[in-house]
Amino acid sequence: MNASTTQNPLFYQTSSHIPLVSRAEGIYIWDEDGKRYMDGSSGAIICNIGHGDPAVLDAITQQAQSTFFTYRTQFENGPAVELAQQLVHHAASSLSRVFYVSGGSEAVESAIKLCRTYHLSRGDGGRYLFISRFPSYHGSTLGALALTSYAPLEIHYRPMIKSAPKIPAPYCYRCHYGQSYPTCSLSCAHALETMIKQLGPENVAGFVAEPIGGASTGALPPPDDYFAVIRKICDKYSILLILDEVMTGFGRTGKLFAYQHWDLQADIVALSKGMASGYFPLGAVMCRGDIVDSVLATGGFPHGHTYAGNPMACAVGRAVLKRIVDDGLADRAAAMGERLLQGLRRLAVKYPIIGEVRGKGLLTALEFVSDRDTRTPFADHLQVGNLVTARAFANGLIVYPRRSINGLSGDHILVAPPLIIKETEVDELLDRLGRSLDEAST
Ligand code: PMP
Repeated sequence: MNASTTQNPLFYQTSSHIPLVSRAEGIYIWDEDGKRYMDGSSGAIICNIGHGDPAVLDAITQQAQSTFFTYRTQFENGPAVELAQQLVHHAASSLSRVFYVSGGSEAVESAIKLCRTYHLSRGDGGRYLFISRFPSYHGSTLGALALTSYAPLEIHYRPMIKSAPKIPAPYCYRCHYGQSYPTCSLSCAHALETMIKQLGPENVAGFVAEPIGGASTGALPPPDDYFAVIRKICDKYSILLILDEVMTGFGRTGKLFAYQHWDLQADIVALSKGMASGYFPLGAVMCRGDIVDSVLATGGFPHGHTYAGNPMACAVGRAVLKRIVDDGLADRAAAMGERLLQGLRRLAVKYPIIGEVRGKGLLTALEFVSDRDTRTPFADHLQVGNLVTARAFANGLIVYPRRSINGLSGDHILVAPPLIIKETEVDELLDRLGRSLDEAST
């Protein structure tokens, strides 16, 4: 059977035609017609070390020759233990325990269930509410979706899930309160305390946030003092701080974990994507040791997934982490990210449809507006982010689009190439993007 000629029964979000991939190497992907694309979005911001890495291929071969799969409650396996040890070492914080899953949504689900179980283990079973932010994205399973604030994805399922209470994300370009930083005194962070009081602190289990907003917001770094305020409020009310580092982890933003930008201590961190860099499904929750001890001492954690901690995925994760650490890819992301941001700012001078350029490391975004002075988004039906993405694709560059959030923002695209990108390739990316913006602007 030939995948390109027989009828394709696969379906995803839309019915649009997409090309069949032929191969991928480094930061490039080729389709079946031999056309080459620069992977300017690392897939869905996942392929941090690029495609076809020989050390990872080697790790896969070696592990496959030893053990493909054993079940986590029957056998421990070396790669799982060693990867966990490495993660704890590099977390350099009180996050001393690791629980494996197979993806980002599973990591977020596990984090909130672990948090709830912890409060139960302390006889504080009234705490069941989680506060998150708008806009945000935390995954597609029902629990993670309840934390998410992105209407196109969650609206159909609202009868089945109770949307979590939400506070505004630190989205300074479109401040919810109409204020400016720093005169705002971080109203959006202090909103957490107001919300906790409203809900009753005795009912609140945790606060969940992406350290740097990703898919829903378009690379949104908070002001540097934001998380210090959040941490203080969580401590004051004995609420756990859960960071969703699914997109920001593993060097993406210029540090191995984004919380390291602010010396922030989280209680639980959700990981995936860059953890296995697309070579295998893998995710994890890292957690404070005393939280895990309390849970395990009082009946355990009644939660888990079949593929969790399997030797193949963990062998890949171990090889990926080694590559990121040994080759200093987080520092590289910081340096290349700076070059990319400077180039994007030059494009913004030329193309008035760019309202804001933002990001940290190699997690960057452009937000599009119809009027730069008033920051007015384009009409929804114009789908400018999709248009720019389509033009870029035609020009051999992959970027990652997101449509306007409930009409509250402009469309945006994420530009987030693999961390191995070279200076000349950053320049080539900017070149292709410039051409695409040119075409989309006319
Ligand atoms: N959290 C964040 C911050 C994400 O960006 C994503 C995926 N885009 C998820 C959770 C969900 O991950 P997955 O798609 O692997 O379930």
